[in-house]
Amino acid sequence: MTARELEERHALEVYPRRGISIVRGEDARLWDDQGNEYLDCAAGVGVANVGHANPVVATALADQARVLVTCPGIFYNDQRGQLMEKLASLAPAGLEKVFLCNSGTESTETAIKLARKTTGRSGMVTAMRGFHGRTLGSLSATFKYRDAFEPLLPGCTFVPLNNIDKLDSAVGDDTAAVMLETVQGEGGVRPADPEYLAAARRLCDERGSLLIIDEVQTGFCRTGTFFSCEQFNLVPDILCLAKSIAGGMPMGAVLCSERVEAGIGVHGSTFGGNPLACAAALAAINFMLEHDLAARANERGAYFQRRFTGELPARVRDVRQIGLMIGIELKEKATPYLQALLHRRVLALPAGPTVIRLLPPLVISESQLDTVVTALQDVLSV
Ligand SMILES: *Cc1c(COP(=O)(O)O)cnc(C)c1O
Repeated sequence: MTARELEERHALEVYPRRGISIVRGEDARLWDDQGNEYLDCAAGVGVANVGHANPVVATALADQARVLVTCPGIFYNDQRGQLMEKLASLAPAGLEKVFLCNSGTESTETAIKLARKTTGRSGMVTAMRGFHGRTLGSLSATFKYRDAFEPLLPGCTFVPLNNIDKLDSAVGDDTAAVMLETVQGEGGVRPADPEYLAAARRLCDERGSLLIIDEVQTGFCRTGTFFSCEQFNLVPDILCLAKSIAGGMPMGAVLCSERVEAGIGVHGSTFGGNPLACAAALAAINFMLEHDLAARANERGAYFQRRFTGELPARVRDVRQIGLMIGIELKEKATPYLQALLHRRVLALPAGPTVIRLLPPLVISESQLDTVVTALQDVLSV
């Protein structure tokens, strides 16, 4: 039986399917079970920044798999220690403490717990259109996808992004943390204003709340700097990471300032910080630094912007490009165009009903981007 038949029989259907079976990848390309080649502007939802089947990551994984795969947090481990030091050295100054987990939602879930433990408060202030994950705590702080799951955590307030007055009124004595993305990913590739993030930092300091920045999607060179915070001169109390951290292996991380209080037994994870994922992360991060993928995201993003916005199809309302995080907002629903792109062998993502989101591997070449631009122009002009 084909993968499609097997999954249709057994998979709990929670994903809107696209109808193809992907069996192999290399850099920015994927192949289906019929041998068709695709340009991947989804990158496993922003996971494959270093490219699919990256040989450096593959070697690190194979080598580490023969040495040690699992090691609980009660013991020290060489790979884990090195990774923690690497993350702390790349993050904004002062974020020296690291907790390792296995996904984005675990990293935001951890951040919410730490904010509560540290402040003794329970309120969360987050942005409308923000996305922080699907486990119950993270979902409580997420604007969408929550309807079927009420009641969620009490005390979560949603404010419109980039409205400083509304943020000012929302942050109060009961606010444990303000949690924001620097660029909203799922919410439509919408960047926060620098003044807004600065105001969030100031309000948190004034009112004894923590500032959590969720860089699960924007981190690891995606937006043209190693972490997106750098572009805003922003130092959060907690930085949440996942997606591209380990070259495609499941991993999340939380980086904390010394203000953040934990304590023995406060949190934990069976798989968090396992040597296999840590080795993959070290390899992926070293690859990003060696090949300066931040600069590459910047250059290739600007290249895309020049090529695509030259002749903007009439049904495009707006193009938002931050490094290689690109949102093409349409005046109509995006799904038919995503399907048309798939027929042109370009894989892309939605971000809300009307936005086509492109998150290609940062190793995508200019000529591959030319192909993407041509496909977009053809599909959007009909
Ligand atoms: C994807 C994402 C998450 C959730 O990550 P998972 O690994 O799917 O749990 C959280 N925050 C942001 C900003 C994301 O883009």
